[in-house]
Amino acid sequence: MLVFTSILLLKEQLQTFKNQGQSIGFVPTMGALHRGHLSLIEESLKVNDVTVVSIFVNPTQFNNQEDIDKYPRTVEEDIALIHSLNARVIIFIPSVKEMYQQEIVSNHFEFDGIEHELEGKFRPGHFDGVATVVKHLFEIVTPNRAYFGEKDFQQLQIIRKLVKKLSLEVEIKGCPIYREPNGLAMSSRNQRLNSSEKEEAKIIYQALLEAKKQFGTKSVTQIKKWILNFFKNNSNFKLEYFEIADEDTLKPITRKIKTKKYRAFIAVYCNTIRLIDTISLN
Ligand code: AMP
Repeated sequence: MLVFTSILLLKEQLQTFKNQGQSIGFVPTMGALHRGHLSLIEESLKVNDVTVVSIFVNPTQFNNQEDIDKYPRTVEEDIALIHSLNARVIIFIPSVKEMYQQEIVSNHFEFDGIEHELEGKFRPGHFDGVATVVKHLFEIVTPNRAYFGEKDFQQLQIIRKLVKKLSLEVEIKGCPIYREPNGLAMSSRNQRLNSSEKEEAKIIYQALLEAKKQFGTKSVTQIKKWILNFFKNNSNFKLEYFEIADEDTLKPITRKIKTKKYRAFIAVYCNTIRLIDTISLN
């Protein structure tokens, strides 16, 4: 199994594959891998000759030190998990120094305003950090296809914009959300929940399912009111935001237009652990 920490050595290896005309699929992650990550890797394995998975906890996309410090890091288990799935996957685990050299800062990007909606309102600079690291990773790996989860739907749309704006030759593939049996969207941050919190956290998905159910008959204002009340009655979970937004612009809506596609987005705190989820409403 090939595990690289050096950009140079990874590039050399990938160049030999490219010279042989092999296609490259890429799955960027921050590690602490779960079935959701594996489903992305499986998608890549289906159509690409070579699959690269990166594991890098990117400092510039975090909003506070505690979140970075407490972010689960399970590199040995991650490598074993990927190995058990497919021993031919190439793993890239760079250090912060390898990725950022001297200065751990992000570049500034504009994505037609979608960066200011939803997560952008609550996590200033987050998408600059994401775009900085993904652009750099794309330059290193130069994949034919890259796989991102709909779990982070806004991130997926931002990466699509990034690729378009920079005219990068990589096809972006969005992959469905992988859930726990109780409906909780899988996330590395779930590792920080205890077992009863994990069980209770199913209410996040239940809230989204209820919103979807109501979307056909109720107004957006009525749905938002219902969600607000629902979380008021669940003291362990603090609602940060719930929005129904246009899938393309990510602008929250108050009124539906028949031809448009909509999604509900939610961010909830369980103590200090921030969980997000989303559902298509069409
Ligand atoms: P992360 O390690 O959290 O940065 O996630 C790496 C990639 O996996 C991102 O594209 C995420 O959207 C995706 N991902 C995370 N959780 C899930 C999930 N439950 N189902 C599908 N994809 C996911």
